[in-house]
Amino acid sequence: MGKKRAQSPPRPAVAEGDGASTSQTVEPPKEPRPPQKVFYCEVCSFPLEYCEFGSSLTKCKEWLKEEHPDLYDKYYSEEALTTKIGTLSLEAQAKLDKEAAKKEAKADAKADAALKKKLASQVTIKRIERTKRKHVTAIHGLEAFSIDLKKAAKQLAGRFATGASVTKNAQGLDEIVVQGDVSDEIFDMLEKGDGVLKGVPIANVEIVEDKKKKAE
Ligand SMILES: [Zn+2]
Repeated sequence: MGKKRAQSPPRPAVAEGDGASTSQTVEPPKEPRPPQKVFYCEVCSFPLEYCEFGSSLTKCKEWLKEEHPDLYDKYYSEEALTTKIGTLSLEAQAKLDKEAAKKEAKADAKADAALKKKLASQVTIKRIERTKRKHVTAIHGLEAFSIDLKKAAKQLAGRFATGASVTKNAQGLDEIVVQGDVSDEIFDMLEKGDGVLKGVPIANVEIVEDKKKKAE
């Protein structure tokens, strides 16, 4: 009838004998490891660990918190930050924060400027008379509204069953040239935001005439 012992006697560690002889290394068989999944931030497109080096950390964090709260905790929870700060002096951390804020302000200003530029940009649909019966229509300025000119040319060519291409005009700027007079139709498409022709305020679009000079 033995009393139960509160503690069991310590067991000898299994690896005790091997621990001393480090000269003998036996490599464990290598198992193919599945490739680690890297998560990319949808805001700045960097892997999540690198968001802080981008210029949109605040937005990155908002997005991550919303979409992947578990990952947000991994990177930005109090615990995660404490671990990280542990490796940096507070001063260095403050400096990093300041730099990040500066970068963000700069990026915001840039975005503002881009928006202003967009609002001020003019799209010109030019009806060009080549001969008495032949016209082409040149559209200029769409790229300011983030429209892919090649895709737009393709869409227009398909719509009007005619030729359309992206060329440089006399000023060296890209424009789309469509065979035929389709300026009114293109105006309508821009107004409706048809296909890739999206995002152009119609107030910014004008149709101009380029008649052949009769001084021949
Ligand atoms: Zn990011």
